[in-house]
Amino acid sequence: MHRLVRAGIALANAHTTLDAAHGGVAAALAERVGLQDTRPLEPNPADPTQGIGRVGKLPEPTRLRDFAAAVAAALPDCAPGLLVGGEPDAVVETAAVSGGAGDSLLAAARAADVDVFLTADLRHHPASEHLEAGRPYLLCGTHWATEWVGLPPLAARLEAAAHACGHRLFTQVSQIVTDPWALRLSTGC
Ligand SMILES: [Zn+2]
Repeated sequence: MHRLVRAGIALANAHTTLDAAHGGVAAALAERVGLQDTRPLEPNPADPTQGIGRVGKLPEPTRLRDFAAAVAAALPDCAPGLLVGGEPDAVVETAAVSGGAGDSLLAAARAADVDVFLTADLRHHPASEHLEAGRPYLLCGTHWATEWVGLPPLAARLEAAAHACGHRLFTQVSQIVTDPWALRLSTGC
C-alpha cells in the first residue's frame, strides 16, 4: 500500500461487491456456461435484481456429464479441473452458479429447486451430505477459475466507459492462476 501511495497509483479493490453486481462475477459465470433467464440466487434485499450467485435455465435438457463437459470447456485451465457429484447420466435443465467458495450456498441452491449447482471449494461432508438428499447435483471447479471469468467482461466495460467519456484506457487482465495447486495426478494403487 505504501509503495502504491508513493508511486501515485490508485487501487480499487472489489470482491463480494463485484460478485453480486450487474455484469459481475456471478453474471459472467452464468453467461459463460450458457444459462438463460437468470436471476440472483440470493437476491440483495435493497435491489433484488442483484445479489450473490445466479440461477437460470440451460438452453435445452442435457445429461449432467455433457453439461459438465461444456462447463469444463468454458472455464480457464487449472490443475484440479472440475469435479462432478451426482448421476452423470441424469438429465438437467436448470442450474445455479456462484464463483468462489460455495459451501454456504448449498441450502440456497436446493431451495431454488435447480438440477445442478456450479461453485468451488466444496468440502467432503457438506457436499456428500447434500447429495444424499438428491438434487441439485454438484459441479466443483476451483476458486480462481470460477471467479476469473468475471475479469474480461469487467475490463471491456471499463474500457467502454472510459471511451464514452473521451478517454483511452488500457486494461490488462492478469493470467496468473492464483489457485494453490500446481499439478493433478490421478490416483490408483
Ligand atoms: Zn473469492
